[in-house]
Amino acid sequence: MKKIAFIGAGSMAEAIIAGVVKNEVVPADAIYVTNHSNEERLTRLHKQYGVTPFREMTDIQDVDVIIFATKPNQITDVLPQYAALPNAVIVSVLAGTPISTFETIFPNQAVARVMPNTSATIGESASGIAWNTKVTDEAKRWVTSLVEAIGIVQEVEEEQLHTVTGLSGSGPAYVYFFVEALEAAAIREGLDQTTARKLAVQTIKGAALMLDETREEPATLRERVTSPNGTTAAGLEALREHQFEQTIHACVRAAKQRSIELG
Ligand code: NAP
Repeated sequence: MKKIAFIGAGSMAEAIIAGVVKNEVVPADAIYVTNHSNEERLTRLHKQYGVTPFREMTDIQDVDVIIFATKPNQITDVLPQYAALPNAVIVSVLAGTPISTFETIFPNQAVARVMPNTSATIGESASGIAWNTKVTDEAKRWVTSLVEAIGIVQEVEEEQLHTVTGLSGSGPAYVYFFVEALEAAAIREGLDQTTARKLAVQTIKGAALMLDETREEPATLRERVTSPNGTTAAGLEALREHQFEQTIHACVRAAKQRSIELG
C-alpha cells in the first residue's frame, strides 16, 4: 500500500485529499498531513477524511509520495526539512515553482510538477503535469492516478506549463468573467438578473457537456447551430467584428507571460 504525505493543508491539499479518499486511490489512513501552525484545520481534516496529522518529518520516514502544497513563497523554508527522505516521489502543485527548485534539495529523486485549477475543489480540475527524468513509468502511472482524483490531467513538457497556466490554470476566471458579461448584456437587453444568471450558467454547462459527451469538434457543433442569416450567425458575426479570437489570444498570452515572469 502506498503512503502519501501532504506538506501544506490548504484548499488545494484538501481538494486532493477529498478526491483521493472518495475515489479510494489509497485508504485514508495511508494519508499524512501537516501545515505550519493551524491545529484546528488538521483536526478537522482528520475528522472529515480520516487522514493522520503529523508534525515531525520522522513520523513519515516510509512515505512513498510527498505532495508539496504550501504557497510558493513558503517553499524555501519548508524543503530542507524533508531532505532526509531519499526514496519518496516528490509532487509539487506550487504555481510558478520549477522542478529545479526541488532538485536542489532532492537531486536524485523523481519530481512531478502539477498545475491544477480551482475546479479541483469539486473534482473537475483541468491539470497539466510535467516530470523530471528520474520518474519511472510506474511512478508516472501512480502519480497520474492521484492527480486524476481531482479531475483530468494532461502530460506536457515543463516549459509548456506556462501555457497550461494561461489556458486552464487561470481559465476558470475567464469563464466566470464570460458569465458576468453574458449576464450584464442580457440584463441590458431586458432580462432580470436571476433569469439571466440561470440561463447563462446552464448554457455554459450544457455546451461543455455537449463537447465532452459527443466528442465532436467545437467548430462542427458551432456550425450545426448556425443557420445562414439566423440569430446565432448574427451574434457570432458581432463577436468577430469585435476581435473575439484576438482578444482570447491576448488573454492566454498575457497570463502565460506573467507565469514566465513569476517563475
Ligand atoms: P493555502 O490554502 O494558503 O494553503 C497553504 C498551506 O501551506 C497551509 O496549510 C499552510 O499552513 C501551509 N504551510 C505554510 N508554511 C508551511 C510550513 N513551513 N510547513 C508546512 N506547511 C506550511 O494555499 P492553496 O490555495 O491550497 O494553494 C497551495 C498551492 O497550490 C499554492 O502553491 C498554489 O500556487 C497552488 N495552486 C492552487 C490552486 C487553487 O485553486 N487553490 C490552483 C493552482 C495551484 P497554515 O495554515 O498552518 O499556515
